Amino acid sequence: MFDVLIIGGSYAGLSAALALGRARRQVLVIDAGRPRNRFTPHAHNLLLHDGDAPADLAARARQQVAAYPTVRLLTTKATAATRLPTGEFEVSTSHGTYQAGRLLLATGMRDELPPVPGFAECWGKSVIHCPFCHGYEVADLPTGIWNNGDEVGLQVRMLLNWTRELTVFTNGPATFGPEVRQLLQAHAIPLEETPVAALLHTGGQLAALRLADGRELPLPVLYARPPAQQASMLPQQLGCELTSQGFIQLTENQLTTVPGVWAAGDCCSPMPQLALAIAAGNLVGGTLSRELIFSS
Ligand SMILES: Cc1cc2nc3c(=O)[nH]c(=O)nc-3n(C[C@H](O)[C@H](O)[C@H](O)COP(=O)(O)OP(=O)(O)OC[C@H]3O[C@@H](n4cnc5c(N)ncnc54)[C@H](O)[C@@H]3O)c2cc1C
Repeated sequence: MFDVLIIGGSYAGLSAALALGRARRQVLVIDAGRPRNRFTPHAHNLLLHDGDAPADLAARARQQVAAYPTVRLLTTKATAATRLPTGEFEVSTSHGTYQAGRLLLATGMRDELPPVPGFAECWGKSVIHCPFCHGYEVADLPTGIWNNGDEVGLQVRMLLNWTRELTVFTNGPATFGPEVRQLLQAHAIPLEETPVAALLHTGGQLAALRLADGRELPLPVLYARPPAQQASMLPQQLGCELTSQGFIQLTENQLTTVPGVWAAGDCCSPMPQLALAIAAGNLVGGTLSRELIFSS
């Protein structure tokens, strides 16, 4: 019997485990080892660790948390989670079932990459999702925007801060309004509506986009915002409400709509950033510790 079961032991989950373990709570962290940024060679915008490899960050974080005898780390997938008639939560894995009075979901989000040849290979390397994370390294380079709809206007205004050499790829007829068209014209930004057939690359470094009509347009960088969904079905299985954007709905202090179930990190936040996930884990770890102290 543990005080808290944490499902997802990446930035948010391990940060919470650190706070809880230091508060002498018995914690089990169950983690399948698939952090969202595992595709990128370097993590950025993270003070003290700017430019570190995600695999190194994960290894060091696990090592630091594992030093506490109060915390147990289990590398496996949690396959089911239920509330028992006693009020406790039970989580199943292929290693066995585990129980605790509190459950923390730090399961992250999964990006649904388009099935275009080369896209997955370039994801996180030269196809990037966020200028704050990776824009500095590719500033001033010819850059594509893979998007459609009025959101393109916002993205163009944002990315002009990093490069003036933009091309918009809408993968079919543009669906945005006249304001976005005027914005593109004002900045002489080409609009390419022909669908992209393939990303040509070497080891994930983009060289060109091949369009459906056979043309090849040289391009070293592409921004894309593929749709994302909960990485795990457990939040829905437990009855946690989701927001209209698909994030776990929080009530207060990282608590979900299900009493006793808490959440932290990307799974409940529209701002995917390492520093924010670590901060949310720290917040929920402290909040849960206090709750456990005062309820005993
Ligand atoms: C390509 C890419 C590059 C990025 N680069 C940066 C960057 O440079 N700087 C930055 O600030 N942000 C970056 N981000 C965002 C960053 O990756 C996320 O904000 C961060 O990983 C969120 O941490 P998290 O702990 O909430 O979730 P994650 O890191 O995604 O971890 C979730 C964990 O839960 C586990 N899990 C899920 N379901 C289960 C289950 N059923 N059982 C057991 N375990 C489970 C997963 O295996 C995973 O280990 C990047 C994102 C992407 C996609």
